[in-house]
Amino acid sequence: MAQSRVWHPFTQHALESAIPEIVLTEGAYLHKADGTRILDAISSWWVVTHGHRHPHIMKAIETAAASLDQIIFAGFTHEPAERLAKALVGLAPAGLDWVFYSDSGSTSVEVALKMALGYFRNLGAPRSRIVVMEHSYHGDTIGTMSVGARGVFNAAYEPLLFEVDTIPFPAAGREQETLDRFEAVSRDRRAAALIVEPLVLGAGGMLMYPAWVLTELKKIAEASGTLLIADEVMTGWRRTGTMFACEQASISPDILCTSKGLTGGVIPLAATLATDAIFQAHYSQDRKKTFFHSSSYTANPIACAAALANVEIWHDEPVAERVAALRALQAAGLRRFRDNPYFTDCRATGTIAALDLRTGSAGYLAEIGPKLRAFFLERGLLVRPLGNVLYLLPPYCITGDELDGLYDAIEEAGERFGAKP
Ligand SMILES: *Cc1c(COP(=O)(O)O)cnc(C)c1O
Repeated sequence: MAQSRVWHPFTQHALESAIPEIVLTEGAYLHKADGTRILDAISSWWVVTHGHRHPHIMKAIETAAASLDQIIFAGFTHEPAERLAKALVGLAPAGLDWVFYSDSGSTSVEVALKMALGYFRNLGAPRSRIVVMEHSYHGDTIGTMSVGARGVFNAAYEPLLFEVDTIPFPAAGREQETLDRFEAVSRDRRAAALIVEPLVLGAGGMLMYPAWVLTELKKIAEASGTLLIADEVMTGWRRTGTMFACEQASISPDILCTSKGLTGGVIPLAATLATDAIFQAHYSQDRKKTFFHSSSYTANPIACAAALANVEIWHDEPVAERVAALRALQAAGLRRFRDNPYFTDCRATGTIAALDLRTGSAGYLAEIGPKLRAFFLERGLLVRPLGNVLYLLPPYCITGDELDGLYDAIEEAGERFGAKP
């Protein structure tokens, strides 16, 4: 093939020359041009839920494309968006009655932040601080980087990022520090919102915390009138065992962001769900109180039809049972590592399993991710560690045998790259 002109995301082209070409996707696999296939153990970056190219979703896309393409969504509407909004309100935690569409996880978070500030401004009591949790990730736009962890990934853009208040990650045994800090920063009532990834911090290293912490955070938010934004872009659609992770904390956030699994991971779509109070703060004879946001591809009809088909799959197929089985398989797979000297912090929430590879020096740590990635790829496995954190976040169609193979490879990787304590 002639020299590629494609600049890939999160890719250092000087170090990664051979980028595999995928010609077919099916179930849990990516098929390469050379005829071999790769087991997609990370759901193609956490988007694919049921498996690649679920026939019901692909069919819905074909059907929708026969009558609709993109239409302007300001001043116009269409059936797929209307039906999907009702379905999402039905699936989401109670009280999230309004659905605002956009096109990616990042934009769904930008929308959430704008809704929070607009809410307080329109009430005539402006608040502008955002409270964030240490190690969080909410996207790669300037706004979402601002509310995410700072580090090598955004050091160059730091001058553009806005200031936030950070509460510590609720590490085991230190949860009270998180709650105390949130209580302290919310006391002056300048915080418009606390934004969190419920139960699992994805890009921050698959860090997990118990549901009761989220319940307590919600109580503190309520007491100070601070809105709670649940970024369920990764955790939604039963990744953590329940449809949305917030359910495990028995809370309803004021704003909820969903994207990745919304179309089953087939085509881009996002939604930001909000309470009636937030909608009503923007509902006015005064045009200045309008919610001023739109993406060109807002509520793309074909994407909405794909999402509706996804919702139908959740109704028509035993997906919840499939998730429960996967959860049990992941727990069993991790048990193999309890006494393995090369790994620490074996953990699981719902369908997500993670463990940390013990490494020697910090310098080695920076290099280990790409080495591990290459190691797995040589074995036909798509596993993309976050530094020394190995995790499996597979599509729900993965089998026990396939998972066993993945855990075998992880064991081997420990012996090859790990350091004993
Ligand atoms: C992936 C992710 C995002 C960003 O979604 P994009 O579609 O990549 O913009 C936001 N929040 C969380 C928690 C995510 O995992």
